[in-house]
Amino acid sequence: MDELSELYQQVILDHNKDPRNFGILNDATHIAHGHNPLCGDKVDIYLKIQDGKIDDVRFNGSGCAISKASSSIMTTILKGKTIEEAKELFEKFHKAVTSDLDDNLDIIDLGKLAVFCGVREFPARIKCASLPWHTMMNALESKEVVTTTE
Ligand code: ZN
Repeated sequence: MDELSELYQQVILDHNKDPRNFGILNDATHIAHGHNPLCGDKVDIYLKIQDGKIDDVRFNGSGCAISKASSSIMTTILKGKTIEEAKELFEKFHKAVTSDLDDNLDIIDLGKLAVFCGVREFPARIKCASLPWHTMMNALESKEVVTTTE
């Protein structure tokens, strides 16, 4: 598991340094703002949904390495997915970051989300990693509210 966590850390550092899909999406159909006051992370999630599918997704904002990497990784996972699939991925992500450390998670089933299993070791960081996902869920429901993780 040590080699694996090292690999996950590298993925997170890489996405922090070179975030994917960063910026404003001008033709977004769904937008939500998220805020994690504990750490000061702020994220805006932009979705362009057509025929029940996420055609495009971007994020904007500022925050710590974990929140930024989590947003970046999330956008790469969500592009091209249906709304149903996005909701399923949210459930899986939630399980990956909140399950007990002794729980054996199905890494294959988690796919790219497996990167976030390591976050379980840093409980203070779970909200940083979850912020973009919760904000994305609110964007899907088009709630014109600020998502806060508190
Ligand atoms: Zn943070």
